[in-house]
Amino acid sequence: MTKLTKGSCLCGSITYEVRGKLRSICACHCTQCRKTSGHYVAATKCRSEDLNIVGATIAWYRSSDTAERGFCSTCGSNLFWREFGATFTSIFAGSIDGPTGLNMDRQIHTDAKGDYYDLPDVPIGEQEPVR
Ligand SMILES: [Zn+2]
Ligand SMILES: [Zn+2]
Repeated sequence: MTKLTKGSCLCGSITYEVRGKLRSICACHCTQCRKTSGHYVAATKCRSEDLNIVGATIAWYRSSDTAERGFCSTCGSNLFWREFGATFTSIFAGSIDGPTGLNMDRQIHTDAKGDYYDLPDVPIGEQEPVR
């Protein structure tokens, strides 16, 4: 049976479904993630072909030469990150509805973390694609 995960933005204008495997949660402390989230990002990842986004208020901000960030233009919820040409989409874990069944097991860009918090107690490493 294929795993089904649902999520939404704060105002509910955007909903999404993932029919397939989700990667464990990775925390990212990079400056862009801290700016866009107000803290640091905790994100899972899925195959883009498994992700179905519904809602006219989805907007994509080109945050670098290589990637863009999806958010709700009504309520401002940060939902997605994807690299141009990549087959995977990162999903901000806080937007998932209900229990995720996932755990945070790694963090990246710790050198860019803010000075007001301690790093979570998970290994520092690189992102890995969904297997
Ligand atoms: Zn919204
Ligand atoms: Zn980041």
